Parts: sequence; C-alpha cells; structure tokens
Amino acid sequence: MEIRNIYCIGRNYRLHALELGNDVPTTPMVFTKPTHALAAMNGGDIVIPKGRGEVHFELEIVLRISERYTSGMDAEQAFDSFTLGLDLTLRDVQSKLKAKGHPWLAAKGFKQSAAIGAWLPFDNLEQINSGEFTLIRNAEVAQLGHPNDMIFSIREILAFIDAEYGLGSGDLIYTGTPAGVAKLDEGDLLEAHWNGEMIGSCSIR
Ligand code: ZN
Repeated sequence: MEIRNIYCIGRNYRLHALELGNDVPTTPMVFTKPTHALAAMNGGDIVIPKGRGEVHFELEIVLRISERYTSGMDAEQAFDSFTLGLDLTLRDVQSKLKAKGHPWLAAKGFKQSAAIGAWLPFDNLEQINSGEFTLIRNAEVAQLGHPNDMIFSIREILAFIDAEYGLGSGDLIYTGTPAGVAKLDEGDLLEAHWNGEMIGSCSIR
C-alpha cells in the first residue's frame, strides 16, 4: 500500500515531555513529515544530517490506516498494520525553532528521518496496549516503552486527527516516544524490538 500522510504525535509520554523540559500537553500535539522522509529499518544504513547539531533517536509505535477506512471508524477497525519507527530529530535545530515559534519541518522532516520496521498485522487495541517495545543501541537498552503509558490513547489520537486534518488509507500515525531519547553517533547499530522480537534494524551513517 502506498504511504500517504505521515502524522506524528509529540510529547505523548509524560516522562519524555519532562526530560526535554516541556509541559505535558492538554490536547494532542500533531506534526507531519514528508513521505520523502521514509526509510526502511531493514538492516541497511540510515544516513543522518551532518554539521547541524545533535540527531536524536525516538522509537515509536507506528500505526497504518487500512484500505477500508472511512472517516469516523473506530480504532479497532481503522488500522490494518503496525510497526516500530524512528522519528529522527535534529534536536539542536528543533530547540532553535521552538524558541522562535517556527515550524518543526527542518528538525523533523529531513530525508530518512522516518525509518520504519517490518509491518505486523494489527488485531486490536489490547494487542498494542499490552505490549512493550525497546530500542537497543549497540547491544544496550536505550528506550523501553509501554503503549499503555501514552497521554493520549490511540483511540483519542485517531479521533483527533480524523476530525482536524482527515485520514485515509495508507496514512501513518507515529504515536510518540517514551523517555530515553539521546544523540546518535555514526556507526551506531539500532534494533527495534516488539515484545522481545526484533522487527527492524539499521546502521547509522
Ligand atoms: Zn517523536
């Protein structure tokens, strides 16, 4: 299925919002990435921007809207697949943009900033909410996430984006990252694990 819009939720895990010194939001904070930002976590290289400050990893649950989606559909029917994805972020650039009140595109929309693992079938919300995901960097756990800890639930995010911006088949939703984000270095090996099973990996170049 062709991927269309890439929606992302910012600050959707309390401890991550606080680790960056941000307030915990009261409505979902949504931004988008161009489809040109897509890359596969299939064991190959991901090339990060050079000379523009720190690039941080953010591992997130990514949901895909199904072919049969129509507006207003409940979350249990709306998705056909999910995976883990990296929302790569130029953190120093983002800090400057935030200070000026400018849009985040330069920090969040660069090429290969939306890396995704292998798609798994979406069965129901409980399957997601009862799971856990980990980002392993160079054989050490860098992030451990429990979807149950999301500030805005998958159901709330779906309804909000549908109402405000619209949704259609092939759209992706990045659902936010848990605490533990940090700077990437060239040569880092990243693995994304869902319930202990690796579903994506890449080398940082
Ligand atoms: Zn993110």
